[in-house]
Amino acid sequence: MTLPNMHDADPIPQAARAEIDRLMQTGDLFRYTAADAAPVSLLEAEFAQLMGSKYALAVSSCSAALFLSLKALGLPRDARVLIPGFTFAAVPSAVIHADCLPVLCEVGTDYRVDLKDFAAKLPSVKAVIISHMRGHTSDMDAVMALCDDAGIPVIEDAAHSLGTTWHGRNIGTIGKVGCFSFQSYKMINAGEGGILITDDADLVARAIIMSGAYEHNWKKHPVLQDAFATWQNKLPLYNLRLSNLSAAVIRPQLPHLQTRVQNGRRNHDYLAARIQQSPHIQVPLPLNGEERAPDSIQFNLIGMDDTQVYGFIAEAAKTGVKVQVFGLSEDNARAFWNWQFIKDLPKLPQTKRMLMRACDVRLPVRLPTTELDSVSDALLKALDTALAAPHDAPLAYGT
Ligand SMILES: *Cc1c(COP(=O)(O)O)cnc(C)c1O
Repeated sequence: MTLPNMHDADPIPQAARAEIDRLMQTGDLFRYTAADAAPVSLLEAEFAQLMGSKYALAVSSCSAALFLSLKALGLPRDARVLIPGFTFAAVPSAVIHADCLPVLCEVGTDYRVDLKDFAAKLPSVKAVIISHMRGHTSDMDAVMALCDDAGIPVIEDAAHSLGTTWHGRNIGTIGKVGCFSFQSYKMINAGEGGILITDDADLVARAIIMSGAYEHNWKKHPVLQDAFATWQNKLPLYNLRLSNLSAAVIRPQLPHLQTRVQNGRRNHDYLAARIQQSPHIQVPLPLNGEERAPDSIQFNLIGMDDTQVYGFIAEAAKTGVKVQVFGLSEDNARAFWNWQFIKDLPKLPQTKRMLMRACDVRLPVRLPTTELDSVSDALLKALDTALAAPHDAPLAYGT
């Protein structure tokens, strides 16, 4: 059985070459050197338009975007910020970087925030970050109703959800701010990079200044200029800007987004239908109103003990499919008990149970469905082999 390459990133469109060449010749890599139309500024305008939001600020990473969003909200030191118990370590890290305290909320077997625990913890926090983890959108109608009622701002961590829609609206435009990543394993790849979007002129003005628009560089942003005057010299400059080179890598990928999203969804749904034939595999359904943009697939293993789960991972690896079980791979950055930089980490038993059985398989959008048959065959065969192993076998597999 030959398996497709499921790990490599996609090539960068040829169109990026000419612009990168031009930048190399002029040396014009800093976003604020040109009087106007710098690649980073053009990227911001194009991205805001693509998403249907008023303002965009491109920065060095999604982590930087999350940090600046929290800072721009003007939260007091030690403000509590509610985040999901299932997210990437960058999220609690951004909260701590902003001098705030992360409060973790339980997550269900569908990878979305548990609304009961969310509602219970909401009164104690000053802001919320919702991570649409691996593109799984939480019930944003319920989240926004609860947060709007309580007057609590919502930041959407849409790092891995570019192209996902919620009742026709782009994910990232529903809360007060939306943050995206251009790191290599996201839908658009610049190696590193991030962007935040918002309709709030005052908030984006603060974020722009703090991102490093020192002196009067903010004049190069198409935002109400009054919003900046208030904040001139009043905010620290964290210098989290994006380079023109990165913008030149990102911009030619934007027109491909829709196709990538469609291919990713097609691949995900195709593989999901095949592997779900096993009663031991459960792929959570999208929520009503959610249109996903997956570049990976997540599923839960049902009715298997730890030995069998480790067996499944090892058997799949033998055929060339890398399966990660979030809670069983060593030092996983998405397992909350590894965020030991947080004081008084909670136990979150429900989230932990989910993480011990939730599998993650990368599924590049470039793969044709014909190549997915061998992936699903490999997964189902690995499952059969693991289940057929003597049940009381000693733990024969490492992580
Ligand atoms: C990748 C990712 C981040 C961090 O993005 P960077 O650009 O690497 O800082 C944050 N949250 C989620 C859910 C992610 O997948």
